[in-house]
Amino acid sequence: MSKVKYYYDPESLSYRKIERKKRTTFTYALMFILASGLFGFLFVFIAGHYLESPKEKALKRELQNVQLQFELLNKKMDEAEAVLENVADRDNNIYRVFFEANPIPDEQRKAGFGGVNRYKSLEGFDNSKLIIESNKRIDILQKQIVIQSKSLDEIANLAKEKEKLLVAIPAIQPVSNEDLTRMASGYGMRSDPFTKARKMHWGMDFTAPRGTPVYATGDGVVKRADSGSSGYGRHIRIDHGFGYTSLYAHLYKYNVRKNQKVKRGDLIGFVGSTGRSEAPHLHYEIFKDGTRINPINFYYGSLTAEEFNKLLERASLENQSLD
Ligand SMILES: [Zn+2]
Repeated sequence: MSKVKYYYDPESLSYRKIERKKRTTFTYALMFILASGLFGFLFVFIAGHYLESPKEKALKRELQNVQLQFELLNKKMDEAEAVLENVADRDNNIYRVFFEANPIPDEQRKAGFGGVNRYKSLEGFDNSKLIIESNKRIDILQKQIVIQSKSLDEIANLAKEKEKLLVAIPAIQPVSNEDLTRMASGYGMRSDPFTKARKMHWGMDFTAPRGTPVYATGDGVVKRADSGSSGYGRHIRIDHGFGYTSLYAHLYKYNVRKNQKVKRGDLIGFVGSTGRSEAPHLHYEIFKDGTRINPINFYYGSLTAEEFNKLLERASLENQSLD
């Protein structure tokens, strides 16, 4: 029930009802709505700023959890980086050195990505720094793993080559010589059996009866099996690749033909005394890149250190060669 207001009219000497105009009512209503709207807005504004809704609280907890997870991830990345660093270290200092490959420099292993800013889309948020830094670390880790894996592929190839080299180069004695008594004369200055003059003896002589088996000392291909070189008589040359050739001279008979592939230990011929030879023996030479080198260093495949020393002693005696 609305209040009715009166006023005193001195002209008619009576109380008269105050009539409110319709327009005034409308203005009051509008003002009321505006005022409550403003109040409501202020309330929401203040509450929104200084009070948290349950949803906000949940979101905040979620964000804290995400930050924590990022920290844990970064710790795991620390570990991954340390492991990879260790592998890279071994790679550079052991594997690559062993196989005579140049180490991969650190700058190359740990290089980031230059050029375009690939993290642009991650910028402009409260946690941008954390997210960008983590992304960078993962990118570098990934790149490091690719480099490491390529390096190991290269090492694997080098190891295969090394294996080939190890089976190819001469590494055993060319005749069976278990008690090491067959070494007659080594590489170096020796007396010539015919002229008695001191001259260079370019190989090693193994005394053995005519017909004693002669073995290939490494894998390779027979390049010659003939008596066309003066002095050597019937002889065999095996090309082992990697610049190595072995020569077996004064043979009695061949067991291989030119261009035949042989393996280390294959029977290739028999001891004789053909060519410039004083008595049945095997004259054995090793060439590296066309130059004759001391065969004494090429028996590691079959001798113990003690046996090697004994052989070295006998090979060093300044005696007369059998040529
Ligand atoms: Zn000789």
